[in-house]
Amino acid sequence: MGEKILIVEDEPTLSETLAYNLQKQGYEVETASDGWEAIRKSRDTSPDLIILDIMLPGIDGLEVCKIIRRESNVPILMLTARADEVDKIVGLEVGADDYMTKPFSLREFLARVRALLRRVRLMKQTPLATTESGEETGKIVFGDLTVDSVRHSASLRGEEIHLKPKEFDLLLFFVKHRGIALSRDKILEQVWGWDYGGGTRTVDVHVRGLREKIEDDPRHPARLVTVRGVGYRFEG
Ligand code: CA
Repeated sequence: MGEKILIVEDEPTLSETLAYNLQKQGYEVETASDGWEAIRKSRDTSPDLIILDIMLPGIDGLEVCKIIRRESNVPILMLTARADEVDKIVGLEVGADDYMTKPFSLREFLARVRALLRRVRLMKQTPLATTESGEETGKIVFGDLTVDSVRHSASLRGEEIHLKPKEFDLLLFFVKHRGIALSRDKILEQVWGWDYGGGTRTVDVHVRGLREKIEDDPRHPARLVTVRGVGYRFEG
């Protein structure tokens, strides 16, 4: 079965055209024509990608994007007809992954969709180190950083890094979601658990601790990137 795409657009002609062409490419398509329906369908159908128009009846696409981003890392491609909206999207204030300005060509649209889905597939694959016989060692290697998911340890340039248990859990969670912007709420829920009483500041404190331990080489670009309005992204 193909990947699932949710189209959120209130102009029926455009929505139908996009849906028809995506289905022709083998994607499974859901549609929504207003903001609340978009949020509901995003929750109910867990799409692999959301195409989200900004101008919608009810709550607009920017608000929809913020709400969805608080609970999911699904890639979001925004559609806009206005140049002044582009600044908001580009500034990543709302957490969208890409945007297109109307009018756009179908060919360009399909190319962007493919690129976004491919990026997510690639990011989900972690570079597992293997032994000479090809067995997986549980070690995940990012340049000079090695994370051992079996022994629950990590090393930098061959030297073991001393991580607190929660710092390791957090690092492993980031590694497994490499390249994906993760909200503080999501991190808190997944790493600390539903019943954890503390606030999202805990996440910031642990991220700061991790950064000091895995980003000690100023020549190396930041591994843990702050995503404004969202949370953090592990770059590898
Ligand atoms: Ca619209």
